[in-house]
Amino acid sequence: VSVLSDRVNAMAESATLAMTKKARELAAQGVKVISLSIGEPDFPTPQHIKDAAKKAIDDNFTQYTPVSGIADLRSAIAEKLRRDNNLDWKPENIVVSTGAKQSLTNVLLALLNPGDEVIIFSPYWVSYSEMVVLAEGVPVLVTGSLENDFKVTAEEFEAAITPRTKLVMFSSPCNPTGSVFTEEELRKIGQVVERHENIFVMADEIYEYIVFEGKNFSIGSIPSIKDRVITVNGCSKGYAMTGWRLGYIAAAKWIADACDKIQGQVTSGTCSITQKAAVAALTGPLDDTRKMAEAYRRRRDLVIGKLREIPGLKISVPQGAFYAFPDMSSYFGKSDGTNKINNADDLAMYLLNVGHVATVSGAAFGAPNCIRLSTAASDENLTEAISRIKTALGNLK
Ligand code: PLP
Repeated sequence: VSVLSDRVNAMAESATLAMTKKARELAAQGVKVISLSIGEPDFPTPQHIKDAAKKAIDDNFTQYTPVSGIADLRSAIAEKLRRDNNLDWKPENIVVSTGAKQSLTNVLLALLNPGDEVIIFSPYWVSYSEMVVLAEGVPVLVTGSLENDFKVTAEEFEAAITPRTKLVMFSSPCNPTGSVFTEEELRKIGQVVERHENIFVMADEIYEYIVFEGKNFSIGSIPSIKDRVITVNGCSKGYAMTGWRLGYIAAAKWIADACDKIQGQVTSGTCSITQKAAVAALTGPLDDTRKMAEAYRRRRDLVIGKLREIPGLKISVPQGAFYAFPDMSSYFGKSDGTNKINNADDLAMYLLNVGHVATVSGAAFGAPNCIRLSTAASDENLTEAISRIKTALGNLK
């Protein structure tokens, strides 16, 4: 019998982190692994942001901050939301956390009672379902079809609503599919939310700057549902700041206050230096952000082009973020004589052990036919990785 809590026993380990760990182990044995398993920009943090952090240290800005973040940061976020997202929130509606991961978890802990259902648009980011389980909610996966670029329709969403539904959550641009909801699609989803007065929306917009055509639309900007939409964002992806740990929400004050209360007992405010860096990120020029987004678009084209040369894959073209998510199911049931491929987990293992490319099985993202490749790597590594994948798949009969 486990001494651990039911809560933790009910959780799964992060599949992306597990795969990254396996890749590191293989690399430590001297194998030249190309790692496309982790969702992390491969660019350095822009200089003006690093300079602000250095100044914060020299100014001895190194003490505890208010739990929800320093005043100039919360103002900068409110201003940014007005500028980019057509969202009208005051600083008091903003809670800054130690990464968007904590922002999401705070909200779930604040809103869910045991047994409350959370509709998660699937394929979904691995942590969503586990965060819901941690908060003792029940994840309800609603899966979009590859034919619709993996996007759940308003009809499919509405059909999944029950009297126990408390929240719907999704990322757009989406990790793992790279799909981006259009304004029209989000307005239709918004109409469903409008009809169901007890449902809240968690809109994870962390990839908002990495959109290849048009612009991200924030569902929270629809006035009739504004008070029921929690917008989540952060610095990790748009400013290449994964290690700095800064995420935030904008929400109705009672939700923000509840998150502040939880965070005040768990972690307090995020790193003071990071907060000063974030002010520079949010108020500074977006040239570096745009350059990075342009690089991700170029790599998307490169990767999708090369994946299309491999027989048997079904591919949707990502409209944002930095992932490719091909359906590999035509290889299931095949073998190279030693390794039998029964599913995406086997295939990801085979590609790592034989092809020396780390990817992640789609199973953990709610898409058991797919694998996820991060395109946040150099052109050279991406080209070599897909060539290795092609060779490895070619040996499966
Ligand atoms: N939301 C999505 C969809 C993500 O892909 C990630 C990171 O991979 C996060 C949130 C977490 O970001 P942070 O680094 O701010 O915790």
